[in-house]
This record gives sequence, structure tokens and C-alpha cells, in this order.
Amino acid sequence: MLYFDTHAHYDWEKFDVDRSELFDKFKKSLCGLVNIGINLESAKKVKEYADEYKYMYYSIGIHPMEVEKENSLDLIEKIFENELKNKNSKLVAIGETGLDYHFNYPVELQKKYFIEQIRLANKYELPIIIHSRESQKDVEKVLRENVVKKAGIMHCYSGTPEMSKKFVEMGYYLGVGGPVTRYKDVQEMVKITPIDKIVIETDSPVLPPEPFEKHSRNNSLYLKYIVKKIAEIKGVSEEYVIKNTTQNAYKVYGIKKS
Ligand SMILES: [Zn+2]
Repeated sequence: MLYFDTHAHYDWEKFDVDRSELFDKFKKSLCGLVNIGINLESAKKVKEYADEYKYMYYSIGIHPMEVEKENSLDLIEKIFENELKNKNSKLVAIGETGLDYHFNYPVELQKKYFIEQIRLANKYELPIIIHSRESQKDVEKVLRENVVKKAGIMHCYSGTPEMSKKFVEMGYYLGVGGPVTRYKDVQEMVKITPIDKIVIETDSPVLPPEPFEKHSRNNSLYLKYIVKKIAEIKGVSEEYVIKNTTQNAYKVYGIKKS
């Protein structure tokens, strides 16, 4: 059975040494992989990969930690406009966007970019990939005030059970990655979330699952450790987890199986 990695960053420097070897290797284990753009530069690269590899798709947006760089939303909108004229486009979402309060990036600017990207998601009827770190209440507030037509994914989600229920009710899928192998609260969240609301992701090159070192390089082949943990928590087979999370990924990204 094949895995679907809903969130990765293969354009990052850490993959410069062996990117194409990895991409070839993944053909055997993955039916889908979405590379998530974080700024304009990254948008070009993730599109190139999707053009070259059948199982790859991409998303573009401006990450909350990138808002201070020169990132024109107008240019991003141009890319959307051009790209989505093509019926076979592999641009499947907008993001990642959201709010990150872990570091001191200007909150008002983050909110401005977040709301603008919601507007774009609604204009082009795409789902949105949300990054939320130490910012859940504000993310919820922004999403209630600016309703997204096609909800999308709460990426690398690690909120409280109450908060995860709220997001699921609002139509969001929860992205589960490496942290599920390490942290009790994430395991608890997985336990209470219905399988039809879970997608799996690596967030490569960061956040590898156990048994790998916390700061080692992650890659999509490690999805099997994430699946194993989810199956264990839910008391179901690994095949069941793979089958369901893959279906969910196709559904949220609006990809038709070929
Ligand atoms: Zn990411």
C-alpha cells in the first residue's frame, strides 16, 4: 500500500545533496506528496518538482515566519491566476499560512498575510494549509471571522482536545506527523479524532519520528513510523490507517486518482 505525504519541504537546502535520488526512491512507496511553498522563491521550485514527478503536487503561500521578507502577495496571486487556467495543474492548495507566536515575528503583519491568503483561497476555491504555533485562539478567531470555503489542513497539529474538536467541526483535517511518536498530547488528540479527519505528513526535513533523533533529517519514507503509532493508538491495522489517510488526502486536495 502506498502512502500520501501531505506536507513536506524538499526545496530546502538540506536535500541539495541527494534530492533526485530520494525522489526516485519515493516512487515505490508514495502515491502522493505535496511540497509546501513558504515564499516566492520556494514557489518556483515546488512547481518544478511537480512538473517532473507524477506523484508530486504543490502548494504555494507565505509562511508566517516569512512575512518580513519581500513577498508580494500580488505576485503569488498572478501565479495562481496563470496556473489555474491549466486544467491539469498540480497546484492543490494555498499556504502554508497562519500564525506563529513562538518567535517574535510581527503579529499584525502575520494576521494581514493570513487573511489575504484566506481571500485568495476563497477566490480560487482551494483548500488552505494552516500553520499554528502557540497561537490557537487567534487562529480560531481569524478563521471564524474569515470563513474559508474549502477548509483544508491544520498542519502538524498539536492543540488541546477541545481545540481539535472545534477545528474538526469547522471542517478541517488534522495533519499528524513525527510528534505523535513523542508527545502524549498529540497522541491524545489522535485518539479522539475520527480517522476520516486525519491526514499524515512528515514536514520533511524537520520533525522526524522516533526512533530517529529529534534534530536529524526527516524524509517521507519515515511515514511508516507515524502510521504505526496511529494504528497503535487507535487499535486498528496499519493498512487501515494508510488506506483512510490516503483517501482523506485525495479528498482534501481535490486530486482525482489516476
Ligand atoms: Zn511546513
